[in-house]
Amino acid sequence: MTDLLLDRYQEIVGEDVVNNLRQLAEPLRGTKVVHVNSTREGGGVAEILHRMIPLKQELGLDPSWEVIVGDAEFYQCTKYMHNTLQGNRFEIPQPLLRRYEEINQENAERLRRQLEEADFVFIHDPQPALLLNWCPERRGKWIWRCHIDVSRPYRPVWKYLRSYVEPYDASIWSLAEFAQPLYHPLYLIRPSIDPLSEKNIELQDSELQEVLERFGLDPDRPIIAQISRFDRFKDPLGVIQAFRLAKTFTALQLVLAGGGATDDPEGEEVLAEARAAAMDEPDIHILLLPSDAHRTINALQRISDIVVQKSTKEGFGLTVTEAMWKGKPVIGGEVGGIRLQVHNHHTGFLVNTPEGAALRIRYLLTHRDKVEEMGQKAHKFVLENFLITRHVREYLTLMVAILKGTEERIELQ
Ligand code: UDP
Repeated sequence: MTDLLLDRYQEIVGEDVVNNLRQLAEPLRGTKVVHVNSTREGGGVAEILHRMIPLKQELGLDPSWEVIVGDAEFYQCTKYMHNTLQGNRFEIPQPLLRRYEEINQENAERLRRQLEEADFVFIHDPQPALLLNWCPERRGKWIWRCHIDVSRPYRPVWKYLRSYVEPYDASIWSLAEFAQPLYHPLYLIRPSIDPLSEKNIELQDSELQEVLERFGLDPDRPIIAQISRFDRFKDPLGVIQAFRLAKTFTALQLVLAGGGATDDPEGEEVLAEARAAAMDEPDIHILLLPSDAHRTINALQRISDIVVQKSTKEGFGLTVTEAMWKGKPVIGGEVGGIRLQVHNHHTGFLVNTPEGAALRIRYLLTHRDKVEEMGQKAHKFVLENFLITRHVREYLTLMVAILKGTEERIELQ
């Protein structure tokens, strides 16, 4: 087997796709690209960056990934910001905002040389968004990459943040409806999963068996699972309610698995709420996983009959993509990026209530042929739309377009 990532991707997506990546990367050879986010572990952004950096490197760019470091007040502020940008109405206390600004300034001082020398800086989400403000000598292009659903933000918070993201050269959004009016160019790029990652590679049956045994799951009764950080927008309580309703019709086990993200201070509270709602019911398995439990999550998704992602807000929902790649139909909340992936009645079902989710669980468990058929469509849909190769192609295209945007004709070798 070859060590080159590109050769291995080629086996999955074909030669043309990989040749196209090489062509697009050629004019960007040696380009210094810095990505900055707020956590190395936990959540979709870290998941993507772990996989994207080595691929960009193999394509001849000079990529790096930095993480801003904050304190408890900073993460409290950015969690409030996350929640309010996704629609909660809440006034963020001024002292927390000042801390948010100070931490960004401190991190800008620490990273300034690298950021100011980069050809491209991609700043992910609101946490590090203020870095640009303290990098006055920057020479490259700065792009704000917003991963969350800002379609109906709490206006005062968006107004505050907008003043800091407006000076960026461009911004990237996951869905057109999330994008807010800004004076710079706005781009639309969907996230992706990596089929070669531990999270998504094929696993041996023996490994699946081991995971079933480790968590005391019964292989003879259906398993439904939601894999998510314990976050209220992921609605773990709604999933428990749906499970209880569906269980009145058929034998069933529920897995709610998730770990914390270092930048998410609310996780423990939501986990405690989920445990209380589960009331020690033996068929509800609440699993708190370490941040590197990628193979375990892979196995849990594979041993599940149905994967649920009952979010009430969702930027994209990589857990949905991961499950679909494994040929699982997904019952997902009819929100944000889940709607891009779950095509109702084709790759899964979109639901708005626990009752709706319970009905769909019941339907699928009594129509096994549908589980199979939808799962196959789901896998194909991800293959065609949501793999890392498509994602990197769009990033490269964006960089080429920004660098050479004034040229009438761009020749690729
Ligand atoms: N994830 C993980 N461990 C967990 C929970 C989630 O590794 O305990 C991963 C999950 O497999 C997915 C990502 O974190 O790759 C979550 O991304 P998503 O877009 O679904 O949600 P986010 O957490 O970014 O809101």
